[in-house]
Amino acid sequence: MRLLKYFIISFLIQGVVVAQDNISQRLYETYSNYKISEIENKRFSHSELMSVLEKFQNSDLIEITNAGYSLEGREIKLIKIGNGKTNVMAWSQMHGDESTATMALLDFLKFMDAKDEFDNFKNDLFNKITLYIIPMLNPDGTEKFRRRNELDIDINRDALRLQFPESKILKKIQEETNPKFSFNLHDQSTRYTVGNSYKVATISFLAPAYNYEKDINEVRENAMKLISQLTNNLNEYIPGHIAKYSDDFEPRAFGDNFVKWGSSLILLESGGWKNNYEKSFLRKLNYVALISGFESIANESYKDEAIDTYQSIPENQKRLFDLLLRNVTIEKNNQNYIVDIGINQNETSTSDKRNYYFRGKIEEIGDLSTYFGFDEIDCLGMIIDTAQIFPETFKLSSNLDETNITKILKEGFSFVQVDSIEHSEKFVKYPINVVMSGAKLNNKIGLGKAANFVLKKDGNVKLVCVNGFLFDIRSGKNYIQNGLIYR
Ligand SMILES: [Zn+2]
Repeated sequence: MRLLKYFIISFLIQGVVVAQDNISQRLYETYSNYKISEIENKRFSHSELMSVLEKFQNSDLIEITNAGYSLEGREIKLIKIGNGKTNVMAWSQMHGDESTATMALLDFLKFMDAKDEFDNFKNDLFNKITLYIIPMLNPDGTEKFRRRNELDIDINRDALRLQFPESKILKKIQEETNPKFSFNLHDQSTRYTVGNSYKVATISFLAPAYNYEKDINEVRENAMKLISQLTNNLNEYIPGHIAKYSDDFEPRAFGDNFVKWGSSLILLESGGWKNNYEKSFLRKLNYVALISGFESIANESYKDEAIDTYQSIPENQKRLFDLLLRNVTIEKNNQNYIVDIGINQNETSTSDKRNYYFRGKIEEIGDLSTYFGFDEIDCLGMIIDTAQIFPETFKLSSNLDETNITKILKEGFSFVQVDSIEHSEKFVKYPINVVMSGAKLNNKIGLGKAANFVLKKDGNVKLVCVNGFLFDIRSGKNYIQNGLIYR
């Protein structure tokens, strides 16, 4: 019904302009044509970004210039698209390890550069708005794949002092363009839920407050209206997976200050999606949200939205573990206790920062009935026991392979011992932990400890936990991503 109403209103008011819902759907369906295939790894470097931008240097619609340099001298680019009277700003990766939106913005450039069925749509849009994009505002942080800049400063707390080159660039472009709308693009924890629900917060929005009272003026209200519209659009693809970031006023943050400076700012946080380690699905959602957001600003369709939708979006809550084992039995002094165990599989950077491995950690033990897991297993009747080392010693390079590892896991061991290990190595690609022969192993089960243990029923091993991932002896299924090296 809503869709029908949109069509009628659009035709009446705007003639041939395509309705919002329809454009989101078309963007979603045709996305793969525009995905930049050179960037698949979310830990892409500043120089990889530069070489993708290079491809658009001669584009008719896209103007790429130098916006300045980071603290360590890396170039920060400014991309200008369109010649409309309404200015819009968007920036990404002010936190170096939050790259999802940067990837989506690059896909958007490919969309703009293409000559195809969307040409009329694009012409119409960019006669009405002019877009200023800064992709990767913090290239020094990106180089180390971390949040902060080279001097350990969170750029998003430098909006008052404006000391650092990255902050100065952002403020300068804001002053020069005075954007009516702006998009502040981030990644948040992959383990937030939508309120108290079990659903992961895949996208979280915020129309930031501009004072401690959290007043709503017209500038903030317009951001709320646009978010309402984007939420309705995205709900088609991720129903119930949209949350709201806390709107506590942060006087030092850029988002809050942009609102103060008169720009309707939309904070968009990319969150979690099961097994979407490289964030490709979130990248697609960003792409759809951004372009449909630009369309709404150009045609002012956000004005028809009520802010109720925005206000009823549940807030982020931290209620998810990567793996939640329910009803595990712990034995102590001949007494049985039933507990739940929450385990997180934390991404850890390799030394070159361009890749990662996992470190599984016991994050919480006890009554976790108000929590959820991306994966949940009911372990009723299973007793937890410490992980053991397989007695035979292997040569890591030659006689340890997937076949004998599966046999060892099936016997209930979480570790194998080897005669030598390359000094710098911290993990193995094998689905088992590796320990130096003769090394003393701490395999204690407890809060904050490495997640290595076995679960037994009637004395028989049913599940083996290796580095926070399970091998299920009952089904033979192996979910283990990598083992760690213990010396
Ligand atoms: Zn961030």
